[in-house]
Amino acid sequence: THFGFRDVPVADKQKLVGQVFTSVARNYDLMNDLMSFGIHRVWKRYFVSISGIRPGDRVLDLAGGTGDIAALLKPVVGDKGDVVVGDINAAMLSVGRDRLTDRGLVSGLRWVQSNAEALPFPDNSFDAVTMAFGLRNVTDKDKALADICRVLKPGGRALVLEFSKVRNELFGKLYDFHSFQVLPKLGRLFAGDADSYQYLAESIRKHPDQETLKSMMENAGLERVEVRNLSNGIVAIHRGYKF
Ligand code: SAM
Repeated sequence: THFGFRDVPVADKQKLVGQVFTSVARNYDLMNDLMSFGIHRVWKRYFVSISGIRPGDRVLDLAGGTGDIAALLKPVVGDKGDVVVGDINAAMLSVGRDRLTDRGLVSGLRWVQSNAEALPFPDNSFDAVTMAFGLRNVTDKDKALADICRVLKPGGRALVLEFSKVRNELFGKLYDFHSFQVLPKLGRLFAGDADSYQYLAESIRKHPDQETLKSMMENAGLERVEVRNLSNGIVAIHRGYKF
């Protein structure tokens, strides 16, 4: 298959993203480690550690995929808290559920197949919504951000961990080389799937930079939005509140 993401009409993007993640689901965790030299684990731990999420909180981990963030969140919210993992892709959710069940993480966790653009939850339901490496894949990001805001309780927080724009030019060149030359080859070698990893590199390149995403969150109704760069801006954490 060739996904040919460059020129697809917007309406088809969702279907193609679906194919990409169904295709990578089984190898997803291994590939994350290979492609980021394991650093995605550090980013995710840091993301949860500065989230401000507390024991007893009810959290939606959107685009939760194979459950990395949920596994980190569960010990933070504890027995009195809840983590709902929402993801549009059944294959990713099923890998995640198996993985966390194997690690004994079952109670206080729910897995709900859901589209970020039309969340199947009532208004004001969550203390926090986390979304790690997910927003970039959503077709209508403004709609998703508005729906995240809708399901947050007043005082609740939205936390987005996503690839962003590298700050240093030289480092940016190295990073582009890694993304466009190395990633698709790793994809072919280890997952038999160069196209999906080509998509990955392209989707990172197209994703809004730090300032743009900040304004998008503000337009969606989130307030006091702050940005923190990690690894020179390869990824950034955006945090905003609903009041
Ligand atoms: N959060 C996980 C992590 O950090 O390892 C998974 C990230 S994975 C790169 C992106 C996830 O976004 C995939 O599981 C995909 O199915 C999901 N996704 C893509 N479009 C979505 C949408 N519109 N609504 C919800 N999830 C979506």
